[in-house]
Amino acid sequence: MALIASRSPMDIPILEIQNLTKHYAEVKAVDGISFAIQRGTCFGLLGPNGAGKTTTMEVIEGIIPETFGDILYKGAPRGESFTQEVGIQLQNTELPLFLTVEETLESFRNLYTQRANKKSLIAACRLEEILKRDNRKISGGQKQRLLLAMALANDPDLIFLDEPTTGLDPQARRHLWEIVENLKKGGTTVVLTTHYMEEAQNLCDEIAIMDHGHIIATGKTNTLLDAHCKGASITLPGTSIDSGTAPLSTPWFRLSDGRISIQTEDLDATLRELVAMNIDLSRIVVSPQTLEDLFLKLTGKALRN
Ligand code: ATP
Repeated sequence: MALIASRSPMDIPILEIQNLTKHYAEVKAVDGISFAIQRGTCFGLLGPNGAGKTTTMEVIEGIIPETFGDILYKGAPRGESFTQEVGIQLQNTELPLFLTVEETLESFRNLYTQRANKKSLIAACRLEEILKRDNRKISGGQKQRLLLAMALANDPDLIFLDEPTTGLDPQARRHLWEIVENLKKGGTTVVLTTHYMEEAQNLCDEIAIMDHGHIIATGKTNTLLDAHCKGASITLPGTSIDSGTAPLSTPWFRLSDGRISIQTEDLDATLRELVAMNIDLSRIVVSPQTLEDLFLKLTGKALRN
């Protein structure tokens, strides 16, 4: 009798990362991280600049070698099928000059034996209106949509997006989010890196928060927030509290812009305390806790400097 019940192929995570480590000469860029990604989900690797997100992605994608650790794709080490079946959108990719959007997409599709349907790809990435335009004459948001279409040219099961919305305006960012949502609905697994916590909260089913090459929290986005960030987040002008002020029972942090951040599980009690301390509350902001607050709580520092 088998000691371990066999798993059906659909139960096997599409990616399993075990003790992944990447050391450069002087930097432990990724230091023994493990996580699994289920099929059809969106998984987010989050963290500040230099946390190790891009290195993690590039090692998993096979662009750079790991120092050690295991990477399993559909339950087995990555083989030939991996390159054919995954899509990769790199950070800072330069588009070929003197080609139109349509020509660029076509030349990319021609690299693969399995190709996405051209019409569906154009519609999915909303490229209809810029197909005949030269790559040099498209906006930042349009470029990101074209890069996404190029990463989808082989109709991948799994797509990697490295900071797909960095530098985009809020509207272009929202367009990209809608496209990613539709990919998920179609069953594509999405792995993305971002330092926008709002993006992760909107898109990701599960996340791993990285800092200094380690994963400091991982799990379902809502479960993490429920577990660590039950109450509310309060911000106050930087001059409201200082070392001379009577101590608060809730820890507070100074954000990089000087404002004061307090995360409390008991909003009512903290507000009463602030009133009793005679603090000017005219510019107080109270909001539900977010992944930004979770990061602050776990590391004692803000995500973005
Ligand atoms: P960002 O959000 O800025 O892209 P990141 O989280 O993706 O940051 P990485 O680019 O993976 O972080 O970098 C992780 C660490 O590894 C940093 O300290 C970086 O300086 C270092 N690093 C990255 N690539 C190399 C390299 N080729 N040689 C040496 N060190 C490197």
